Amino acid sequence: MTSNASPQGNADLTAREQEYGTDPLKVRETGQYRSEYVKTFAEKWDELIDWDARAASEGDFFIDILRARGKHKVLDVAAGTGFHSVRLIQAGFDVTTVDGSAAMLAKAFENGKERQIILKTVQADWRWLNRDIQGKYDAIICLGNSFTHLHEEADRRRTLAEFYAALKHDGILIIDQRNYDAMLDHGFSTKHKYYYCGDQVTAEPAHLDDGLARFKYTFPDKSEYTLNMFPVRKAYMKKLLNEAGFQRIRTYGDFQESYAEGEPDFLVHVVEKS
Ligand code: SAM
Repeated sequence: MTSNASPQGNADLTAREQEYGTDPLKVRETGQYRSEYVKTFAEKWDELIDWDARAASEGDFFIDILRARGKHKVLDVAAGTGFHSVRLIQAGFDVTTVDGSAAMLAKAFENGKERQIILKTVQADWRWLNRDIQGKYDAIICLGNSFTHLHEEADRRRTLAEFYAALKHDGILIIDQRNYDAMLDHGFSTKHKYYYCGDQVTAEPAHLDDGLARFKYTFPDKSEYTLNMFPVRKAYMKKLLNEAGFQRIRTYGDFQESYAEGEPDFLVHVVEKS
C-alpha cells in the first residue's frame, strides 16, 4: 500500500469505536469519515453491501459505460472494501484503488488477495488527491454514495477540481449519490435493492435536515454504526460539476436512462471532462 502523511494519521486502523463527541448531530466536518470507517466497521462493510447481490443488481452497468467510451485506466477513488476495483480488474481494466481510510483500504487489499488479485492501493484524501497519485486517468469512479461525506462546500469544490485534474483531457467521472431530493422532500423509503444489498442489515436515517443525513446501520449481531453525511441535492451536484469545468452530465436513476424524479434510490452521473 502506498502510504502518505495523511492529515489525521491512521487512527481508523486502531480505533474500535466510532467517535462523535457529545452531540453527534453537530458533527458536520469533512474529515469525520476517518473516525467513522473504523476497523470494526470496515470488517462489517461487506455484510452490508453483499458482493454477490450487488454484482447481480448492478450487472455490467459500469463496465459497459467504460468500454463503450474506450476507457481503460481507471482510478477508483472511493474504493471502500474494493468491490468495484476487483470487479473492474476481473473485467480487464487497469485499476488504481484509492481511499482515505486505511481500515477500508486494508480490507480492500485483503479482499483482492482472496480473489488472487494484488490491488494497487493508494491511501489519499480526495482534497489532496494529486499529491498522492501518479499520472492521468481515463476514468474516475466515485461510487457507493461517497461524495456525500464532504460536509463543507469548499471541500466539494476542491475535490471536484482534484478529480478534474487527475483525468486525461477526454476523461470521464462516474459519480453516484442517494436520491436525497426524494428523501428531503418526501421522506425516506428504500427498496434496498442497489448498493446496500445485504438483507440482514438495516440502513435507516436517524436524522435528516438540509445539512445532515445521519444513517444508522444495524447488523444481525445487534452492533450499530452510523454515518454523518451531507444530503447533496441533484441540481446542486450538477451545478458543482459544471462549475468545476466538466462539460456534459448524463444522469441515470437506478441504472436506467429514463426515470421519474422521485422514483430511484440512487442516481449515477456520467460526466465528461471535454
Ligand atoms: N465505494 C465503496 C462502496 O460502494 O462499497 C465504499 C463507499 S463508502 C460509503 C465511502 C468511502 O469513501 C469510504 O471508504 C471512505 O473512507 C471514503 N471517503 C470518504 N471521504 C473521503 C475523502 N475525503 N477522501 C478519501 N476517501 C474518502
